[in-house]
Amino acid sequence: RANDRMLDCFVYTTQVSEGISAQLALMADVTKGIERGEFQMHYQPKIELKTGRVFGAEALIRWHHPTRGWVRPDEFIPNAEHSTLILKISEFVLREVIQQIHQWQQQQFQLQIAINISAHDLLQPGFSDLLLNLLNEYNVANEAIELEITEGSLIDDLDQVINELLKLTEANVSVSIDDFGTGYSSLQYLYRLPISLLKVDQVFVKGLPADEDASHIAKAAVVLAQKLGITSLAEGIETQECLDYLGQIGCDYGQGYLFSKPLSADDFVAWYTSYEPI
Ligand code: C2E
Ligand code: CA
Ligand code: CA
Ligand code: CA
Repeated sequence: RANDRMLDCFVYTTQVSEGISAQLALMADVTKGIERGEFQMHYQPKIELKTGRVFGAEALIRWHHPTRGWVRPDEFIPNAEHSTLILKISEFVLREVIQQIHQWQQQQFQLQIAINISAHDLLQPGFSDLLLNLLNEYNVANEAIELEITEGSLIDDLDQVINELLKLTEANVSVSIDDFGTGYSSLQYLYRLPISLLKVDQVFVKGLPADEDASHIAKAAVVLAQKLGITSLAEGIETQECLDYLGQIGCDYGQGYLFSKPLSADDFVAWYTSYEPI
């Protein structure tokens, strides 16, 4: 038995150190990647369902790694969220997106752009100041930014998150809750944070209208948003039937491959210019 325990201990320490060295390698890779310009932002349109109008876009990060090729955000964001690395990424994203909005403004192109942040970002002192300073530096209106908050891991200090968010919403930055229905404490977030948009996770959207359970959940989420006086958005719309159904249940906004995949800034402008409401 003592041997077993030693073995357990051995397995545990190698796992931990493997975890730590993988984490360190990722950190070094991302830091270098940012310096070398391997990261860029893509944009996916957000559509008002009643009118078919494009009212904004979500900024999604893309990493072109010199040897691994395209690396999906799901492969590095969740790991980055465990360390200050997420802050480095968010700093890059904020600057990149705000610069882009500034450039689009000069071309008379006005859109609200949503940025994904982790609730952990908000626990870092100075995050809201960083955002507000960048907006100021690039002469972009605070209203042009929306923050999408996800919760991949539990937050101990929700009060501090709330304080940071209030600072931002008082400055007219809007906040939405992302992946609603799949996170750790979605309902509590909805209850306590200054949220103006609820994004229904794509797992409840994909199978609409055929999937009955998904349709109950999607409907409940839309009604919940209405009762709370906030708007709702369904993500992952891929078919016309799904879009029609969401319109029927009173969902306000939508996003998904049916309209467009996330596109580079230039491709996004080209798409937008020739877009005709569905
Ligand atoms: P998310 O915020 O839920 O983003 C939606 C994801 O669904 C995106 O994947 C998007 O490309 C994909 N998607 C959009 N429409 C459809 C559709 O109709 N069908 C299907 N099957 N998929 C669709 P992506 O870009 O790979 O991003 C994955 C996740 O990585 C995001 O999920 C978000 O949590 C995170 N992420 C992406 N960019 C950033 C970033 O700049 N910062 C942070 N903190 N997280 C990011
Ligand atoms: Ca999102
Ligand atoms: Ca989402
Ligand atoms: Ca997600």
